[in-house]
Formats: sequence, C-alpha cells, structure tokens
Amino acid sequence: MNNNDSFEAVIGLEVHSQLLTKTKMFCPCPNVFGMEPNTAVCPVCLALPGALPVINFEGVKLAVKAALALNIDINRKSLFARKNYFYPDLPKGYQISQYLDPVSSNGYLNIQTGGGEKKIRINRLHIEEDAGKLIHIGNQSYVDLNRAGTPLVEIVSEPDINSASEAAAYLKALRETLVYLGVSDGNMEEGSFRCDANVSVRRKGDPRLGTRAEVKNVNSFKFVEKAIEYEIERQIDVVLSGGKVIQETRLYDSKENITRPMRGKEDAHDYRYFEEPDLPPLILSEEFISEVKNSLTELPAVKRGRYVSEYKLTEYDAEVLTQDKDIAHYFEDLIKENGGRVGIKKLANWIINELLSELKAREGEGRSPIKAQDFLELITAVESGSINRNTGKTVLAEMLSSRKKAGEVIKEKNLAQVSDDKGIEEIIKQAIDENRKEFADLISGKDKLFGFFVGEAMKKTKGKANPKKVNEILQKNIENYKSGRS
Ligand code: ADP
Ligand code: MG
Ligand code: ZN
Repeated sequence: MNNNDSFEAVIGLEVHSQLLTKTKMFCPCPNVFGMEPNTAVCPVCLALPGALPVINFEGVKLAVKAALALNIDINRKSLFARKNYFYPDLPKGYQISQYLDPVSSNGYLNIQTGGGEKKIRINRLHIEEDAGKLIHIGNQSYVDLNRAGTPLVEIVSEPDINSASEAAAYLKALRETLVYLGVSDGNMEEGSFRCDANVSVRRKGDPRLGTRAEVKNVNSFKFVEKAIEYEIERQIDVVLSGGKVIQETRLYDSKENITRPMRGKEDAHDYRYFEEPDLPPLILSEEFISEVKNSLTELPAVKRGRYVSEYKLTEYDAEVLTQDKDIAHYFEDLIKENGGRVGIKKLANWIINELLSELKAREGEGRSPIKAQDFLELITAVESGSINRNTGKTVLAEMLSSRKKAGEVIKEKNLAQVSDDKGIEEIIKQAIDENRKEFADLISGKDKLFGFFVGEAMKKTKGKANPKKVNEILQKNIENYKSGRS
C-alpha cells in the first residue's frame, strides 16, 4: 500500500467574487473594468478627509441573491467592520468588510463527485470592498484606484472538501450559480472570481484537523487543482519525514507547478477589526428578502433536472444545454417559438450538434447571433425536407457569417432541395447512362454500388437532392430493369 493512502486531505475554500453592480459598494463611481487608470474615482474611494461611505443597495441585493441561491441564512441585521492594514493600493488604510456579523451565514452547496452528490457546508457569505491595483513597470510601481471600493462577496466554505477534484467541482458549481444569477461574471483570469485554498492533511481516522497552509489567489480552475494536489503531496512528505506542517500563506507558481511560502504566521496581519463607525448596521426587511427571493431565476441544477423529466432529454444533453445560461435561454426560446411542431429532442440536437460547434469554431461567441425564430426557420426547412441536412449545415454557417435569414440564403444560393420525382428520375437516368458497367454490376448483385449511384445523383444536384427520394427512385429503376421493363 502506498503511504499516501493512509492520509486524508482537508480543504476549505475562501472565494472572492466581484458583484456586477453599476456603481461601487460605498460611492457612486462606476464599477467597470478596463477604464483609463484613476478615472473611476471620487473623494470616498480616494479616502479624502471628510468623505463618507453610503451603502449601495444594489450590491446588497446581489449578495442576498447569491446567499439565497447557496442556501445560506440571511441575517436580518449585519454589521460592517474595518479591516486595517497598510498597502499602497488601499488609500484608507483599511478595507470595509464584515466580520463578526456577516449578512449571511450557515449554508451549503451540493457538488457532484465520483462517489455521487456531496454537501459542502458554507460558513458565511459577507460583503466587502475590493482594493485598487498596483502595476509594476520596470523598476517603477504605479497604482490604479479604479477597482478600489468595488463590491465583493467573500464565500467561506467549511473544511468539507477532501480532494483537488472536489475543490474544482465546488468552484465550478459556485461559479455557475453566481454567473447564472447575474451576480458575477465569474471571470477567473481577470480576477473577478478568485480563490484561496486552505489545505491540511491528517491520518485517516484522526478526528483532529491538521495544521493548514493557505494557498493564495490561484487564477484558473486548472491551477487550483494543481496547486492543491501539489500542496497535499508536499504536506504528506513533510509529515512522513518526521517534520511538522507550519501554518503559513503560500503562493502557487504555475510555471514550476509548486507552492512557495509567502509569509508565515509570525508576520500574519493583525487586522485590528472594529465596527465601521461611518456606516449604520445593515437591516434587511422581510419584504426586501422576499422580493429578492422572487427575483431568483431557475438555477442550473434545477434546470437540468427539469430538462430530463419534462423534456425527456438525456443527462448529457441537459448538461450541455445548461452550461451556459444564454444557451439554456436560447433553447427555451426555441421551444416556445416552435410550439410543438418539431420534437424537442431534435431542437436540442440542432443546438448541441450544429449551433454549438459552429459557435465554437467562431471562437468566443458564447451566444447565438441568430434569433431563435430565425434558427427555427432553418430547422423547419430541414425537418420538412425542403433542404437536406447537409445543406442545412451550410446554410447555418452562412447565416452566422452573413446574418442573413435561412430563406434568403436558400434562395440566393439556389439551395432548395430537388424533391420532384421527375427531376430526380432524370438525374438517375443520366447517372445510369454514364455508368453502364457499374449499373450492370449492381443488377447482378453488387449491392455496394447502390451507394455509388446515390452519390452520383447527389453530385449532379450539388447535394440538393432529397436523399430519400433518390433512394426510392433508384430502387424503382433497378426493379424495373430486372423485370425487363427498362
Ligand atoms: P482565516 O480567516 O484566518 O483564514 P478561518 O477560520 O476563517 O481563518 O478559515 C478560513 C478557511 O480555512 C475556511 O474555508 C476553513 O474551512 C478553512 N480551514 C480552517 N481550518 C482548516 C484546516 N485545518 N484544514 C483545511 N482548511 C481549514
Ligand atoms: Mg484565510
Ligand atoms: Zn468613488
């Protein structure tokens, strides 16, 4: 037995997620990414003397929305606190956060693991403000305070996670929920969704928690998994070689795939938390809470369940269709527009097999630029036989690049399927005339040549012939020939 098998990893995650409010958390500056540095600032977020913060209720609403979706209890009264530390990107010298009385506490999120569903308890979700950003160029450092004061929620899990893959599943489920609700854009690379991982190990069966190391700000799902895997191995090695894991903050180096100590417990900050004297307690009315509750949209896990039970889709199809909120809504629009004419499974296939792969090939286009109504026109054209499936794909590609409607593309390119018996009869006769020997072989039993003639007919019509008709009429010709009538 591998020594590692006698250890268990214990992981708790602290996630920071930016909120998609129009303005900052405590001042009216715009909350946007990518503006000219230091242009989205005011006396409040610059910490000019005498400037006072005001709570942005839109931010509170989004935080409560997230909390409700994560089954976290909303606290009717919560407090803001000052978290004091010095850093050049923090003009006030403290961050407004929540400490002893957060806006919500005590929740959970269910994740899918290899061993089935698992409940990860959430300790708290609280509101805080972000700091600015330092930019280092050569040996100069610059500060951009556009981000200072933008709203964040911090979501702290209990140490219920036991592997890197469970951590990834938790983050994925959390991110998906926040993005669905429109609470966050979930962009890990831009730092609007970031994660610190607390990792410890212990001998299996030991009820006590081991000493943890905290791995800071890892900026992709892949790296979170790798950083945790590395950290678990490292700590097991430390214990096995008779050492002790020390409580410290570590940074992940993605180039070398290792973690390195950043600061130890001895230089851990004493934040000297105290209640923010410039803000009143945050009191939430029952009315406000139920208003937010009513505004919750259907969450992805619920949607998936409904697609399987109501629409009779497979788990896989439901998963693909709900991965992106826009695609799920598009699918639902398609069903509405369709009104039962084309089967739902067929609509799902059109999105999964055709639309999504076309969008993927076009890079970065998450949402369909074609209106549901127009996509349905194309689907109906194929399903009713006025164009064949392959032509349908060509038309879709053309619709995506030219933004024209299906009908226009079909007409312009003269793509309508040749379905009239006479036309197809003619074409098959031609094909037989041009390939006398092959036709004789087909008659004498070389059945494989059937496909050859179908192919010839398709070629002659540039793929526009109705394949079913071609098959029927070719078959008829063979029978006629055999019975001596041709
Ligand atoms: P701090 O605020 O100092 O980081 P917390 O007690 O709030 O400390 O814990 C932060 C995170 O660390 C939580 O997600 C918690 O679940 C996790 N955690 C606490 N103890 C351990 C441990 N021994 N091993 C792994 N994770 C832990
Ligand atoms: Mg921490
Ligand atoms: Zn401001």
